[in-house]
Amino acid sequence: METRIIDGRKVAEQIKAEVTEELQELSKKNLVPGLAAVLVGDDPASQLYVRNKTRTCKELGMHSETIELPGETTTEELLQVIDRLNQADDIDAILVQLPLPDQIEEDRILLAVRPDKDVDGFHPLNVRNLVSGKVGLAPCTPMGIMYLLKSEGIALKGAEAVVVGRSDIVGKPMAFLLLHQHATITLCHSRTRDLPAVCRRADILVAAVGQPALITRDYLKEGVVIIDVGQNLVRTEEEGIRLFGKDSERISKIKKKGYTLVGDVHPRDPIGVAQAVTPVPFGVGPLTIAHLMKNTATACRLRRG
Ligand code: NAP
Repeated sequence: METRIIDGRKVAEQIKAEVTEELQELSKKNLVPGLAAVLVGDDPASQLYVRNKTRTCKELGMHSETIELPGETTTEELLQVIDRLNQADDIDAILVQLPLPDQIEEDRILLAVRPDKDVDGFHPLNVRNLVSGKVGLAPCTPMGIMYLLKSEGIALKGAEAVVVGRSDIVGKPMAFLLLHQHATITLCHSRTRDLPAVCRRADILVAAVGQPALITRDYLKEGVVIIDVGQNLVRTEEEGIRLFGKDSERISKIKKKGYTLVGDVHPRDPIGVAQAVTPVPFGVGPLTIAHLMKNTATACRLRRG
């Protein structure tokens, strides 16, 4: 079987083109969607994510604000910042970059964000909307994946969909979104018995685990569509050769940069078996930020439009 490699960058461009159209509509009402990103501490990965998010906002012509707070910020101090953003009319979407430092009560912070500005869909009201299939704000990565499945013409009605990983931000919302499109859902986790056998039932397999190349040939049914959410760092040449082969350009990447990215799915095993697969990098990754922009525009339209 010929395996299609799905280019997430192209799908992300489609999403951004839709956002641009939506921005034009909103500008007729003198509205410019605004995103505020709140970053506590100086974790380099979080700083990079937030920088990419604000850059994409600017690229599309949206308003963006980054609030950087010291690592020792208290819950009360952060609540005051959220309160100000909740009241700011030019801010439609509030993103609190996780993880927060240990001294901060994460639940209190996520509950404090106004549900109609809760761009990550963490607030209980948005979770309820997600579970019952109502319009609202839902987490960006699974929303981006749903967009990708639709734009790739993948049939969901009646399909067996297996999601590996049950986090609140990816696995669980993914399962509900697929369910609302009439797929039959199996949600797996670290205690699932005989994971390969369960995965082999899948017409659509979503891996959101955080374990490099966990999903191997043994987990795949012929013709499966694979969505690989995992983003794991491979740092040693030995591991790189095992996963990518000794002639792969990834080996020179490890030598040059000190790492290369690998998903939760083995990078070579799906080829010839799967109908389609998202690569890592440039598969699911670009969809998340693109959908964050879409959610920000949606939040603006629902609240102010
Ligand atoms: P998470 O909160 O750590 O959840 C991981 C899930 O995987 C848990 O439900 C865990 O089960 C399950 N799991 C762990 N080991 C397993 C195993 N051996 N077999 C079966 N299930 C196992 O992770 P997350 O935030 O959902 O992220 C998952 C991956 O996606 C990470 O690599 C992350 O970097 C990536 N990610 C990528 C994007 C993107 O934009 N591309 C966005 C978000 C996340 P238990 O619940 O039983 O512990």
